[in-house]
Amino acid sequence: MTNLNYQKTHFVTSAPDIRHLPADTGVEVAFAGRSNAGKSSALNTLTQQKNLARTSKTPGRTQLINLFEVAEGKRLVDLPGYGYAEVPEEIKLKWQRSLGEYLEKRQCLQGLVVLMDIRHPLKDLDQQMILWAVESKLQVLVLLTKADKLASGARKTQLNMVREAVLSFNGEVQVEAFSSLKKQGVDKLREKLDNWFSSLPPVEETDA
Ligand code: GDP
Repeated sequence: MTNLNYQKTHFVTSAPDIRHLPADTGVEVAFAGRSNAGKSSALNTLTQQKNLARTSKTPGRTQLINLFEVAEGKRLVDLPGYGYAEVPEEIKLKWQRSLGEYLEKRQCLQGLVVLMDIRHPLKDLDQQMILWAVESKLQVLVLLTKADKLASGARKTQLNMVREAVLSFNGEVQVEAFSSLKKQGVDKLREKLDNWFSSLPPVEETDA
């Protein structure tokens, strides 16, 4: 298994929906989470870059899928944050459909990272994302973010609670505590990404 240098990650492009993504080749790992869950901070921590995920924060670009390349053909995909209170219902439903479509149809997708605030885990849309991923036979890494906000006892209780709860999805779902502030869980994230990026892309079926 190769250990990738995530510091080399750079922005490639943004897409308004899955029809505008680059070719479905190589390997992708997607990051999803409610707005404010700590997704941008986690991407910046992983790549040791202060502003990598800044693009996704620019007003008007929050609904875009942002793609970053770690190495040739190995991409991190920053999916639009969900759960914005001020977004109209119609637009929310459109985002959700597009997220579901991406998880279901993107062949090069190897894994999904779902970020949830350790103090407010497993909201409806978080569960929906995990469900879609498991149904699409994708492995999932759940990061319980801002773990530094809880004392170690409460942190362990919460971690165990979520680990227990995700068993009901009957999929490959790993749960880890994470803190961008304290750099906790970054090794676990890197390990999982290295593992996903080492998998061979699915082979096109041919009639021959
Ligand atoms: P995003 O909307 O999911 O991209 O979330 P951000 O990364 O922008 O983080 C949302 C807020 O949570 C910001 O105010 C961050 O400073 C804060 N935050 C993110 N990660 C951590 C963390 O590990 N610890 C603490 N204490 N705060 C964090």
